[in-house]
Amino acid sequence: MSLDSVIQAVGSANSFLITSHVDLDGDAVGSELGLALLLERMGKKPTVVNHDVLPCHYDFLPGRHLVKSSVNEAAGVDVGVVLDCTSLERTGSVGRALAENNIPIVNIDHHSGNVSFGAVNLVRPEACATAIIILDLIRALGQSIGRDLATCLYTALVAETGSFRLSNTSAESLEVCACLAREGAGPYEIAASLFSRKSPQALRITGEALSSLEMGLDGALAMMCLRRSRIEEDGVRGEELEGIVNFAMSVRGARVGVFLRELPDSVVKVSLRSNGTVDVDKVARGFGGGGHSNAAGARIPGTLDEVKGIVVERIAEAVGTRHRHQP
Ligand code: 5GP
Repeated sequence: MSLDSVIQAVGSANSFLITSHVDLDGDAVGSELGLALLLERMGKKPTVVNHDVLPCHYDFLPGRHLVKSSVNEAAGVDVGVVLDCTSLERTGSVGRALAENNIPIVNIDHHSGNVSFGAVNLVRPEACATAIIILDLIRALGQSIGRDLATCLYTALVAETGSFRLSNTSAESLEVCACLAREGAGPYEIAASLFSRKSPQALRITGEALSSLEMGLDGALAMMCLRRSRIEEDGVRGEELEGIVNFAMSVRGARVGVFLRELPDSVVKVSLRSNGTVDVDKVARGFGGGGHSNAAGARIPGTLDEVKGIVVERIAEAVGTRHRHQP
């Protein structure tokens, strides 16, 4: 569907609940807050509600006053807007509340695996971030950008391109960021807020993840992991571990980077990155997850060692290297 259907849905509604996926990341949060500020400026009533609490390194973003914590906000809104999510299930409790209340959904996303679950679906896999689609929407509505929206959208792009290091960094993403900087987004301030506020414990545990580095598949695979007991011992929040996987891609010759983190209930969160020569989205989808060809993830049941073994097997298939798992 086109931008026009979204513009129509926005025009005919007054109150909006905006949400995104579990394990909030920068594109999710930046796009949500950017859209919420836009709707507020247009005289509408937007609310942002997520399954997870807003990670504290996004505290600096404008629009936090529109974030609410209760899924009860879903009752009575005119429209639910789901951003950056391949499926409604991936929103967790918020999607369930929208469905229970029969709220029509506008689905805006840039994942190719999006299952078009909305009444209106605007899915653009060619966009390097959902924030780019929000920017198109702002322009199509004839609205100005301004410092606050620019700050939200620039943050989304920095996060989604892995600080302009992932293979989705393009002339378009750089041009858009230059435009957002001209609108008032502060590249230095945003980078400092995102990357220079870690707790000492988070940095130490990042060091442990780095020490766990294992190479495989003739140097094509760089893999790191963290056990749950270690994470809990130091009281480090999951969100503080965002971005560790990118270190794996800094190993010379690595085509796939993997970071595995134990979650409660015998589930392992797997983050995958690729240098563009291996489709990690396909690997993640094989485990019920998803993402993009260069950055994807999944939650896989099993012990850390079991999950490690099966993930290496699947990556070996994707890379085209023979691998025998050592029990
Ligand atoms: P990360 O590994 O940083 O959590 O996620 C990388 C990319 O994969 C992001 O676009 C994220 O939305 C997506 N992703 C991560 N985990 C899952 C998952 O379990 N399911 C789906 N569909 N996408 C995921």
